[in-house]
Amino acid sequence: MAISGPSEMVREMGENVGEHAPAFTALVQVRLGSMRLPGKALLQVGGKPLLAHLIERLGRSRKLDAILLVIPVSSINDPLEQLANDMKIGVFRGSELDVLDRFAGAAKRFLSKNYVRITGDCPIVDPEVVDGVIEHFSANNLDYARTGKTFPDGLDVEVFTSEALETAQSEARDNFDREHVTPWIRRFYSSELSFVEYPEDLSRLRLTVDEPEDLSVISEVFGAFSDNTFTVADVSQLASARPELFVPNQHLERDGGSSLSSGEKLWRRAIRVVAGGTMLFSKRPDLYATQGWPTYFSRTQGCKVWDLDGRPFIDVGLMGVGTNVLGYSNPEVDEAVREVIQNGNMSSLIAPEEVFLAEELVAIHPWAGKARFARSGGEACAVALRIARAASGKDGVAFCGYHGWHDWYLSANLLSGSSLDTHLLPGLSPKGVPKALKGSSLPFRYNEVDALEKHLESGAIGCIFMEVERNIPPATGFLESVKALSKKYGAVLVFDECTSGFRTQHGGLHLGYGVEPDLVTLGKTLGNGYAVSAVLGTDAVMQQADSSFISSTFWSERIGSVAGLKTLEVMKREDSPKRLVETGLRVRRGWGEIANSNGLKLEITGIVPLSSYTVTGYGATEVKTFVTREMLRRGFLAPPSIYVSLAHTEEIVEVYLASLNDVFRELSKIDPEDLGNVLGGKTVISSFSRLN
Ligand code: PMP
Repeated sequence: MAISGPSEMVREMGENVGEHAPAFTALVQVRLGSMRLPGKALLQVGGKPLLAHLIERLGRSRKLDAILLVIPVSSINDPLEQLANDMKIGVFRGSELDVLDRFAGAAKRFLSKNYVRITGDCPIVDPEVVDGVIEHFSANNLDYARTGKTFPDGLDVEVFTSEALETAQSEARDNFDREHVTPWIRRFYSSELSFVEYPEDLSRLRLTVDEPEDLSVISEVFGAFSDNTFTVADVSQLASARPELFVPNQHLERDGGSSLSSGEKLWRRAIRVVAGGTMLFSKRPDLYATQGWPTYFSRTQGCKVWDLDGRPFIDVGLMGVGTNVLGYSNPEVDEAVREVIQNGNMSSLIAPEEVFLAEELVAIHPWAGKARFARSGGEACAVALRIARAASGKDGVAFCGYHGWHDWYLSANLLSGSSLDTHLLPGLSPKGVPKALKGSSLPFRYNEVDALEKHLESGAIGCIFMEVERNIPPATGFLESVKALSKKYGAVLVFDECTSGFRTQHGGLHLGYGVEPDLVTLGKTLGNGYAVSAVLGTDAVMQQADSSFISSTFWSERIGSVAGLKTLEVMKREDSPKRLVETGLRVRRGWGEIANSNGLKLEITGIVPLSSYTVTGYGATEVKTFVTREMLRRGFLAPPSIYVSLAHTEEIVEVYLASLNDVFRELSKIDPEDLGNVLGGKTVISSFSRLN
């Protein structure tokens, strides 16, 4: 069959119904917005786009009456339409994600008795194979036929009747069925599943183009032949003669992409181009699931997060890793930010709101006299330490808890690789941290005053840097003793409330304990998802901030200050700490009740609105893997923790606990020793580790 113009290849509806409709029309589905390898159809091999090779090859089929490109409506796909025009084949444009609907639309417009589905990522499609499947389909009077697994991955051909397609279009509901066009036909329509197999098992060969490694194999294959007329038999011979050409993509799973969400596909791209995969370690998908974690979001509202495929999840266990106590996309905060965008976020002059925010924070913390702002928690901590060192005149810092990624903090692991392991994140590497800092940051354990005093006795410590409370409450008198030691040894006391602030108390948690530090850092909760962090301090200590050079362009942008002010206002009006604690207590009680009723015992830790549990007798990482996976299946982002927000209404909490109850019931049926096997030997990562 020669490639002919659209008018010959395809006929519009009404022109040729019934017997005159063409017998077999190839519908080639292709789009440029693919998640894993964007624009792949137009990547050049041998001086030609992959899609052009595919169309040329299909054009040699003896059985096809027409070829039609079936592409999404979005304008990024316009170059595909251009290519179709250049090659004189027809085009139909339809839904991006509902590919079944796109096919049905094409079939309605371009009538044919039967259709042949070809995917645009298979440039080596073999016209002889296409004809073979069509012959088999016709000879056996089938509704559906396809190539079997003995063909190389990427030689897929499916043939089905127009009635089968029409019925699938009206009956198939599932997203998977709609995205992949034919699964519904295979399950419910076709009386007989008919596969055409290749005489030899070539399933080890991968000739599809999903990943960059695939492209290198395809290029080698095209390069090995003098023209584009080679067949699957020729490729088989090539694979025997030069197996090394087919090695680069051998590790990739067959049909591996079809079960992956768009988020998982994008993560595969991310780890090639984004160092560390993402900016916040706690957002890495391998911390939560071995597969299936949605990974990326498209939008948020309240405590709901929608992934890239539009699936909603109820976020209980993370809430932006603690950023949104008012819930996601809070309308008042967002409106204030929109106003900033309207009027201008940045200028050569200063945003007045930073003065207002400083006044507000100082009023909430009566012991403090001055504020400084930054945009992340780690930055605020680094600023606070600079000020503390300037004030005390000493370099040494004794610390407890997690305080970010900066040199001063990671340098603790220069002393011993595990110094930081008991301070939130184990496994942190001090690589890249100057060795000269060794010994300047000394860890002490929470509630261990004697260990702290030992450090102070050296006389080199000018700063005590600690979280007021993380996993366990302070022992009686602990915070007061720390304060007394700071005075006795002339060390500046910094309470890091980047995570704890504004959860149990309007302001820092220390206000409730009645212990006043010299400096406080605030972060996560301050801007309800917008970037703003703060250092507050006594007048005496903060004077040092003026003598040391501490300055950064984007600390002065306006959105952070405005979001901070509005968040403070809404938190105060809503009495958010009281409500967060009430909800946290309800969740903790609920955890206890459902554990009890399923014969499990929990250990619950953390400040009330930020609680976590482990299940006694079971491995913590295995439980995290199991619970997160099972809750994900039920529509929750819910590792064994909760970051309470105002969006966690009573109703949400009850639905969450009911689902968790089912998961606990399933867990209780598994022997702790067996849980690893149930998980197929795969668990989430439990400490900082490099991406593979
Ligand atoms: N301090 C504490 C107590 C924290 O919990 C965190 C973040 N988990 C930080 C500092 C660092 O904040 P950021 O990630 O915004 O740099």
